[in-house]
Amino acid sequence: MTERPRPLPQPGIMDIALYVGGAAQIAGHDNVVKLSSNENPYGPSEKAREAAARAAHQMHRYPNTDHASLRAAIAEVHGLDPDRIICGVGSDEVLQFAAQCFAGPGDEVIMTEHGFSMYPILTRAAGAVPVVVPETERRVNVDAILAAVTPRTRIVFLTNPGNPTGTMLTEAEIRRLAQGLPGNVLLVHDGAYTEFAEENYRRDFALADDFPNVLATRTFSKIYGLGGLRIGWGYADRALIDVMNRVRQPFNLSGVQLAASEAAMKDRAHFTRCQTENTKWRDWLRRALLDLGIDCDESHANFVLARFADAETANACDAALQAEGLIVRKVAGYGLPNCLRITIGDEPSCRRVAHVIGRFMAGRDQA
Ligand SMILES: *Cc1c(COP(=O)(O)O)cnc(C)c1O
Repeated sequence: MTERPRPLPQPGIMDIALYVGGAAQIAGHDNVVKLSSNENPYGPSEKAREAAARAAHQMHRYPNTDHASLRAAIAEVHGLDPDRIICGVGSDEVLQFAAQCFAGPGDEVIMTEHGFSMYPILTRAAGAVPVVVPETERRVNVDAILAAVTPRTRIVFLTNPGNPTGTMLTEAEIRRLAQGLPGNVLLVHDGAYTEFAEENYRRDFALADDFPNVLATRTFSKIYGLGGLRIGWGYADRALIDVMNRVRQPFNLSGVQLAASEAAMKDRAHFTRCQTENTKWRDWLRRALLDLGIDCDESHANFVLARFADAETANACDAALQAEGLIVRKVAGYGLPNCLRITIGDEPSCRRVAHVIGRFMAGRDQA
């Protein structure tokens, strides 16, 4: 048989390592507690569920293309200009718009050592080259980012608070970064966990107001409890939004997504309850870990990063948790092989995790 030519993927595509999500199952357990994907243990607002159910009656209709009603709700809650908002299929899609619009073959995209694993995927999909810069003790190092900028740099991806570190840049540091970057470099402030940092945090929006090269992204997947429905958004200068809207599919969000996220945004009581509970149990779990002799940075997100003496101890602890039906996240792929990232669940989940880890550490002390 003669060799026939085959379709060849674009450069960069075959360098992409497939994304690995948090595990959801353990063989032999049908009642697991999933603390591996930073999901909201309380689920979405009841109003969001109701809105989704109502919208389902209209699924034979195309949704609207401009997301005007959702953008108005977001703008109202956050005091923003709705014309400077773009909505996507998760904030992942907004990050993809950014990579697709502003980076191409031969360009460089900067991300940090423990940064989100979607950044290299989106960078390579755009044909560009990921440039990974070191962090300092699990904290973003602004000087390292600025030192990595070259004439080929097009985008800097920054997660703040960080995932899986949970640490946060100070306002002065973020501003120093924005000020130090050339104006033609897009700074993406990925705020997937920003709502867990503090009430009314809006330094990312202020940054996008002061710098026309800043894109602030937020998501409905974490504090709003809608990870399964896939809705996120970005806020930036109108010129940036205009560019990204050109590559956005007109019907990227379904009627169900639009209705549920709008209702979720408007339910501030549910939001505040989730925020308050998260802060309480996050700080409780961190204290419990520290009391067991396990290092743990102060977290500003909805998870904590437990740091064990070495990778072997972290893996053994993970096995002990799995034996009890508790799934947490190994983060060796993020350059943190001695750590486990534990999503803050509800009170019983947090107590169970602390209990099982306590028993595991006690067992090791005796060994
Ligand atoms: C979860 C997460 C997101 C949000 O992803 P969605 O596509 O909105 O679900 C974005 N960035 C980081 C760092 C995350 O951890």
